[in-house]
Amino acid sequence: MSHIKELDFLLLNEWLDSGEKLPVIAGPCSAETEEQVMSTAEALMSTGFRGVFRAGVWKPRTRPNAFEGMGIKALPWLNRIQKETGMKVAIEVANAEHVQLALKYNIDIVWIGARTTVSPFSVQEIADALKGADIPVMVKNPVSPDLNLWIGALERINKVGIKKLIAVHRGFSNYQTSHYRNQPRWEIPIQLMALYPGLPVFCDPSHISGKREWIFEVAQKSIGLGMHGLMMETHIQPEQAWSDADQQITPNRLNEIIQSLRLPDDKAGTSQINRELMHLRRIIDSIDEELIQVLAKRMQIVEKIGQNKKENNITIFQLERWNEIMESCRQHAANFGINLDFVEQIMQEVHKESIQIQSDQIIPYPSFTDKTLSSD
Ligand code: PEP
Ligand code: MN
Repeated sequence: MSHIKELDFLLLNEWLDSGEKLPVIAGPCSAETEEQVMSTAEALMSTGFRGVFRAGVWKPRTRPNAFEGMGIKALPWLNRIQKETGMKVAIEVANAEHVQLALKYNIDIVWIGARTTVSPFSVQEIADALKGADIPVMVKNPVSPDLNLWIGALERINKVGIKKLIAVHRGFSNYQTSHYRNQPRWEIPIQLMALYPGLPVFCDPSHISGKREWIFEVAQKSIGLGMHGLMMETHIQPEQAWSDADQQITPNRLNEIIQSLRLPDDKAGTSQINRELMHLRRIIDSIDEELIQVLAKRMQIVEKIGQNKKENNITIFQLERWNEIMESCRQHAANFGINLDFVEQIMQEVHKESIQIQSDQIIPYPSFTDKTLSSD
């Protein structure tokens, strides 16, 4: 990927002094009333929360006629939170005017939403408006699973001199309904972390899961993968929220989630080298898990093929098919720049296991039992 090394960012501990082991950004999806943001902020403080307070002031909505945020009117409410609680506040910006107002009202952190990250012109407009400002910027992944578009947005912000960057993984839209509201596609933030070791990457389990009961599991997974912090929508009365009611949680529930998360053991993490090593190992662990998952999927298909061959009385091994498989694997190996012999050896092993599975299924047919090769 040609983008590598083009981001000049600060490590999180060089600028975010939250004092917490796991930085968390919490607050409602939208600022609705002064009373709602104040009571949410106060309830957060009373649970011991010391992170950053978030609230959407301008809400880019997928469809018209939904609540589009209170706008400028809500900015003084956030100033009150800064003053009365000492928390830093974060809002979403989607154009130059939003940036100018965020700076005018001394908002501490801004974020670019998923529907804006997809648009390079909008991101550039925001970047230009941020020129000369020393404000941290969080960039949510674009709604589409496009890593380059996400990196491109980070680069645009970085190019105007902003080094306090956080990438926020909030999952990707799907056309079909799926378990979670957004598909996590974990491999995409993992690849981002692999390309830019140390780049602060947070997870937003609220928007990924879409339902409060799944927030913990998504948050835990992201922490296990080595993400550096969380953004979780928190509302004093989640069911009454004007936007994203299903995925918001109370300040108490947020606290329970934070307390229950298993954080990575950081004993070895005092030096930067060890930090990086730990981080890379976490990525490897997750890739290994994916490899095994993929192998399991392959073996399930092999069984179906075995069943089909058995029913249709087809021989297990067909040389042309085996040659075709090996040829395309060699081609993939060449395309991805990995050692051809290594790929061949792995495929021989995979094939051996396929033979085993199919011949176990076919054993009742004596004519097949002596076959030592299979092609699936
Ligand atoms: C939000 O954080 O409220 C929001 C609109 O998120 P996203 O841009 O991830 O949809
Ligand atoms: Mn929301």
